[in-house]
Parts: sequence; C-alpha cells; structure tokens
Amino acid sequence: MEFDTIAAISTPSGEGAIAIVRLSGEDALAIADKLYKGKSRLIEAQTHTIHYGHLFDPEIEEAVEEVMVSVLRAPKTFTREDVVEINCHGGLVSVNKVLDLVLSHGARLAEPGEFTKRAFLNGRIDLSQAEGVMDLIRAKTDRAMNVALKQVNGRLSDKVRRLRQKLLETVANVEVNIDYPEYDAESVTLERLKAHAVEVRDEIDQLLATAKQGKILREGLATAIIGRPNVGKSSLMNSLVHENKAIVTDVPGTTRDVLEEYVNVRGVPLRLIDTAGIRETEDIVEKIGVERSRQVLTEADLILLVINSAEDLTEEDKALFQAIQGLNAVVIMNKTDLDKKIDEDKVRELASGRPIIAASLLKDEGIEELEQAISKMFFEEGVETADLSYISNARHIGLLNQAKRSIDEALEAADMEVPVDMVQIDITRAWEQLGEIVGDNVHDSLIDQLFSQFCLGK
Ligand code: GDP
Ligand code: ZN
Repeated sequence: MEFDTIAAISTPSGEGAIAIVRLSGEDALAIADKLYKGKSRLIEAQTHTIHYGHLFDPEIEEAVEEVMVSVLRAPKTFTREDVVEINCHGGLVSVNKVLDLVLSHGARLAEPGEFTKRAFLNGRIDLSQAEGVMDLIRAKTDRAMNVALKQVNGRLSDKVRRLRQKLLETVANVEVNIDYPEYDAESVTLERLKAHAVEVRDEIDQLLATAKQGKILREGLATAIIGRPNVGKSSLMNSLVHENKAIVTDVPGTTRDVLEEYVNVRGVPLRLIDTAGIRETEDIVEKIGVERSRQVLTEADLILLVINSAEDLTEEDKALFQAIQGLNAVVIMNKTDLDKKIDEDKVRELASGRPIIAASLLKDEGIEELEQAISKMFFEEGVETADLSYISNARHIGLLNQAKRSIDEALEAADMEVPVDMVQIDITRAWEQLGEIVGDNVHDSLIDQLFSQFCLGK
C-alpha cells in the first residue's frame, strides 16, 4: 500500500525536556534530509541510528533548532514505513516550529490515531492490537496497563485465531461430506461438527466471563461516597486520595479534554463521583442529602456508605440502606475511636451480607481493610494474582456474543436434522464475526471511527 507522508508531535503537549516530531511515509527521510544539517546526510543513514545536527529553514537559511534525529527505515518500524523522529527542545514554540517546517516541506499533519492506523493497514498489527494501543494510552492503573499490553502483544488475537481455525476445520469436514455424499458419514460428520462447535462456544464463554473485570480495569469503577452529614465522607475521600494518589487522566475523543479523577485501589481504578460536591460545596451537598444521594446511586458501580458508630442509627441512615438495596456497596462504620453507641446487630441486618468495615478515619484506621474488601468484591483472588487476559472492549464483547449466538443456532439446526450445509452457514457466520475482532471484513467507516478516537500523534 502507498501512503503520503504524515507528521505529528508524538510527545504529550505541554512542557517536557524533550519533544518529538514524528514522520512516517515514503518521503519521511527526504523531507527530513532537506531540512537537516549535520555531519552526514540523513538520506544515506543506516536504519535505527541517531544523528545530531540542526534544522534549517531552506528559505531563510537560518538554523531553527538543535536536534537529534532518529532514522528508522521500513519495514522494521511501528508503521512498517520509513519513520523519522526529530527530537527537539520541549518548549511549545520550538516543537511547533519543527512541525511547521516539516509540514511546509512535504508532510501532512497526521489525523488522530493515523500512525496506529497505518500499522494496522500495513499489516503490522491487527485491529484488536490497535485497540490495545488505545487502551494503553488511556490506562489508569498499572494493572489496566498490563491488560492493554497483553492485548497489544496479540494475546487476544492468538486466541481468536485459534477459535477461527477450529471453526474452519469444522466447516471443512462438512465440505468433504457434501462433495462425497457416497462416503455417507452424514451423522458422523454432524456429531463431530457439534463437538467442535461446543468446544468453541465454551471457549468464547470463558472469554466473556472475563469481560466484567476487564471493563472495570479499563473504565474504572464509578464510586459514590454517601452518608448523612458529619459521618466522615470527606475524611474518607481524603484518605483514599491521600493513600493512593489521585490519578488525573485525559479523556481523549473530545475536542476539549475532560479531566477525571481516579484513585488506584490495589490495581482497581475508582472514579470518585461527585467529588467536587463533597469537597467544595459541602454544605449545599449535605443539605440536599438523601435525595441527591439517590441520584448519584444510579450512576455508581460501587457505593461506600459511611455511618457513625458513635451515634444511634437515624432514620436517614436507614433510608440510605434502603436506597442501596441490590447495589454493590461497602459499609464503613466510622469513628470507632469514640464510645460506641450504634447497634451493630442492626447494622449487620441492614447491610444484609455486604462487607462492614470498622474504621477511624481520624486515626487512619480501616482504610487497608476497606481496600481489601473492594478488591475482593470485584476480583475474588485479588487483582494482583489474577490472570491478566481480560476482554475489556465493548466491540469485542459484542462480537463474541454474536459469534456465540451463531454457534448456538448451528447447534440447534444440527439437532433439528436440517441439511448439514445449513448448519455450515451458521458456523461460517460465527467465523466471520470472530474475524471482525481482529479486523477481517470490517467496514472502512468502522476503521475510521475507531482510529479517530485516538489522541493526536499516536
Ligand atoms: P462529612 O460531613 O460526612 O463529609 O464528614 P467529615 O469528613 O467532614 O467529618 C465530620 C467531622 O467528623 C470532622 O470534624 C472530622 O474531623 C470528624 N471525623 C471524621 N472521621 C472521624 C473519626 O474516625 N473519628 C472522630 N472522632 N472524628 C472523625
Ligand atoms: Zn463532608
């Protein structure tokens, strides 16, 4: 495939010591060579070498920047095209000057995700790997990053390929049967087909079973801290943020990047909902009280209900217990440093099996236990020890479900003793649906849409 030469700033915007302008495409070396002056010509450089020199604007014959230039020749590059990386000083002015220079000498500004898209289109990575790259950029905790990395390394792709191969063999058996009906083994073929199909379906089920956890690692748990005034909500929030360092991530895909705050609880990213409310406008939030909490609850994956052990349960406490029925919640019984007044049996009854953590947030007690309870709630073995090949991407989950349905239809058809080539149609459809995960048969518009969600420069 032939493409024009693209360029973009590939380091995060803002201040860093060094910034990189990356070019990819047939003319990458020629463009850089036109602008560069150093000991030797870039165009003659060996692949995977770095060169010190200056960039000149040929029109004004004036040195623009002191640079280090990496020359990476196709095909052993991320895009499988010639790649040139110009390392320059990190200030916004100087990188933009370098970018302008390459853009006015033959390169085109890359669209978001275009480098990764080329890696995909040039066959360097498949679609699920490209999506892994995107997740990697957005990963909020180390754990989430490891999951994404596994995907980039093709772990999901390998699995999907194996399943497709199995389906293909199944279909091939049917072909033999159709072509040689006299080798009458219709029933044998059908039995073998069913056995294979069931195997594949079971493996798809196993993959889907990891989806819930994958999604949590990928997107974080929307977490609401609720409780009546003065029980210690703000204290809890501060402890969580303090112990775990809030992670602030960019959410790409919007023109104006939205900032979201996460805390990393043993590898599980918690996205604290309505934290601004708890932090800043304390009084207002607490006046709105239970009503407001109810609304927050509808958005939450996890609820932390704080109560005060030094006081009797109030009607408001009980209303909050009511409100969290059927939801994932942990009860934090705070202020255990004070004389106990609360009826613990009653609390246990109201909590109906949910973890209850005795805490004194004032004395920093109970946070460890709380974190353990949260981690256990979503990852039985704890995230640290769990196998990290999760399915986390909604598109993949959708396709796996579709493939599973197709296989179920094939099995039903087989049981109804319809002609075997009818069964084959369903199996073939499952094969195609799995293929879409890795990017076979996907529509161009989907490809464009997927890659447009990337950040600039990736
Ligand atoms: P919120 O209104 O639910 O957000 O509660 P705050 O976190 O603002 O706490 C209300 C008051 O209770 C503050 O004066 C805290 O210092 C105090 N407090 C919080 N946790 C504890 C605790 O574990 N023990 C004691 N004795 N006081 C606490
Ligand atoms: Zn508060």
